[in-house]
Amino acid sequence: MRITCPCCGERSLDEFVYHGDATVRRPDASAPDAMTQFTNYVFIRANPAGAHRELWYHSAGCHAWLVVTRVVATHTIVGVELARDVAARRVHENREVA
Ligand SMILES: [Zn+2]
Repeated sequence: MRITCPCCGERSLDEFVYHGDATVRRPDASAPDAMTQFTNYVFIRANPAGAHRELWYHSAGCHAWLVVTRVVATHTIVGVELARDVAARRVHENREVA
């Protein structure tokens, strides 16, 4: 498998470290049901056969955090974004909702 880093171009998987599911968000620790939310945050994961968003770190390259969208059944990568861009978009979307 090869990953196309937005900064470095196409690179071998050996240069990257997988850091898990990019779709989960850390719960609010002050919420009344924080213990249940944290249990789900740590242990409960979807196991899709289709596209899945994953967090990867380009450890042997530019040290960028990436959100990689990968079709789990075929290992086909259909999208790679800088995690900071994804986070900025979330902040922007949350401002529009508020
Ligand atoms: Zn890179």
